[in-house]
Amino acid sequence: MPIEERHRADIVEIGRRLHDRGFIASNDGNISVRLDADRLLTTPTGVSKGFMTPDMMVTTDLTGRKLTGDREPSSEILMHLAVYEHRPEIKAVVHAHPPTATGFAVAGIPLDRAVLAEVVTTLGSIPIADYGTPSTSELADAVRQYIRAHDGLLLANHGALTVAHELFAAYYKMETVEHFARISLVARQLGGERLLSREEVNRLQDLRGRYGIAAPAPFCPPDRPEGKEGEDVSCQALEAPWQPGARLVEAQTVGSGGAAPRDVRLGLLGPDDGIRLTYRELTALIADAVKQLR
Ligand SMILES: [Zn+2]
Repeated sequence: MPIEERHRADIVEIGRRLHDRGFIASNDGNISVRLDADRLLTTPTGVSKGFMTPDMMVTTDLTGRKLTGDREPSSEILMHLAVYEHRPEIKAVVHAHPPTATGFAVAGIPLDRAVLAEVVTTLGSIPIADYGTPSTSELADAVRQYIRAHDGLLLANHGALTVAHELFAAYYKMETVEHFARISLVARQLGGERLLSREEVNRLQDLRGRYGIAAPAPFCPPDRPEGKEGEDVSCQALEAPWQPGARLVEAQTVGSGGAAPRDVRLGLLGPDDGIRLTYRELTALIADAVKQLR
C-alpha cells in the first residue's frame, strides 16, 4: 500500500478509536501526519472524526495552505504547524478532548507528579499550556512554549495534545495521558498519591537512556524551575521529593489545586475507624484549621 494511502487509513482508524473511547464528541479533535519534507496530511474540519473515510483527508503545505482535498483542513492546523516547526523529528500530532485529562486542564491542575514509572519514563510530566482561543495563533503560541520539552500537553480549558514519530505512537500517548489522568483522579479521591522519590526518578531517567526511550528533554533539577517567564520550556518539571533511601514519598503539597485529599480521607472514615495521623499530618491539619479561622 502506498505510504499516503496507509496514512489515510491509519487516520481513519485513530479517529474511530478516539470517538469510541469518548475522547472526542461531535466534530472535536484533529489528527495530522507529515507526508514528506513539504506536505502534511490532516483531518478535515466539520466532520465527526469517528466516521471518516480515507478520501476526506486534506493535504497542506507547511504553512497550512490546502494543496488537495474536497474539504477544508482542520481548524487547529496552526497548532499542528507549531509542533512540526519546532520538533523536526515529530511526524504525527493528535489532538482530542479526553474528559478526565481535560478536567485537569479545566481545573488548572497539571499532570506533573512522579507517580507511575512507565509514565515518568515515557511522557515524563504533562504540563498545561496557557489558554488560547481555539483555531487562533494564540493557541499555537501557547503550545510552542512547551512543545520542545514535552510529547504530551494539556491545553487550558480545552483538551490535550500528543506528538510522536508516527501516527499510532501519538495516539497511544493520548491514551496514556487520559489513563494517567484517571488514575491520578482516583488516587486523589482516595486520599492522595504517594510520589516516586527524586532518587527513583533519577533511576528512571537513567533507564530512559539505557533503553533508548526517546524523551524530548530531561527532568528539571528540583532547584531549577522549568524556565523563566516568557521563555520556552527546556526541561520537564516533575514533582518528586528528595528523601534519601526512599522510593516512595508522601506528597508534600497535598491537594494543590484539587480537593484536599486529607479531608476526603477523614470524610470516608467513621468515628470508630481509629484515625491515625503522623505528627506532620497533624500539624498540617492544625495549620489548615487556623488558616480557615482567619
Ligand atoms: Zn480542540
